[in-house]
Amino acid sequence: MSEILVVGSVGYDSISTPSGHKDGIIGGSANYFSLGASKYSKVNVVGVVGDDYKDADKELLTSRGIDLKGLQQMPGETFKWSGKYENDMNEAITLETHLNVFEKFNPIIPESYRDSKYVFLANIDPVLQKEVLTQVNNPKLTGLDTMNFWIQSKKEDLVSMIKSVDVLLINEGEARELTGKYNGIAAIKDLLALGPKAVVMKRGEYGFVLYCENKYFILPAFPIDNVVDPTGAGDTFAGGFFGYLSKIDDELGFEHYKQACVHGCLLASFTVQDFGIQPLLDLSWTDLEKRQSEYRSVIQ
Ligand code: AMP
Repeated sequence: MSEILVVGSVGYDSISTPSGHKDGIIGGSANYFSLGASKYSKVNVVGVVGDDYKDADKELLTSRGIDLKGLQQMPGETFKWSGKYENDMNEAITLETHLNVFEKFNPIIPESYRDSKYVFLANIDPVLQKEVLTQVNNPKLTGLDTMNFWIQSKKEDLVSMIKSVDVLLINEGEARELTGKYNGIAAIKDLLALGPKAVVMKRGEYGFVLYCENKYFILPAFPIDNVVDPTGAGDTFAGGFFGYLSKIDDELGFEHYKQACVHGCLLASFTVQDFGIQPLLDLSWTDLEKRQSEYRSVIQ
């Protein structure tokens, strides 16, 4: 097992879906990612919160072995995002994004994190993603995710970051927006041409497409009829993907990426079943293994 370093947002979300509304619940890409990945490996978090971030909310992570030495606490307000989903649960509609303390954040990677072999640059300002990448020592695998907010506001920085990582994980709508290609496969090919060795396009209930070494691997999501809140599904997918790879810590390539996608997909299927991070807090290995065998019977 090898350690994973993640930089991403840590914050509070307000979410409306056809199932209801929740105000100020724990969210952010780094929270979902690390709760997912920590089922497999040790996770080191880099991020920032304001003085309003509750100690109990940090303890939810530390109690699961997640290392928060790299989570700075600064005067000011924590990152806040509000969004809604209408009938199409595959598309989040952002209502408000308040970067707050992230606007002045200068990531300093603790010495003990610098040799993390697996580095995931979760959805956050691409300038911050770059600052993190320049402070780590020769990682074995680097990955990146993003969101329309950054495609619209920092496209050049984002494209330069995509060029510097091994794996890009991106959702279908964002891949279209970034490349201007409506066809998903054409979008993937454009993204791969930027430099990464593999692209994983996340497609909500339709699953994912992995493209790497001139080969495709495509699966539907685990069928869920009670999608309550899809927020964080993409970050959880990335957590399962990186978690699995770091746990086996083998030579990287298409076959292992395939398995990593299956783990990501399965883990994300739990996240959507309730609001926020709750499903990940409740999830056991037994639940995961049970769903893994159910999924096998769905896809074979
Ligand atoms: P996902 O549904 O996996 O794409 O990620 C949702 C999470 O991303 C939410 O918990 C938000 O707090 C977080 N988020 C939303 N907008 C941004 C942004 N512009 N930068 C970083 N994180 C964000």
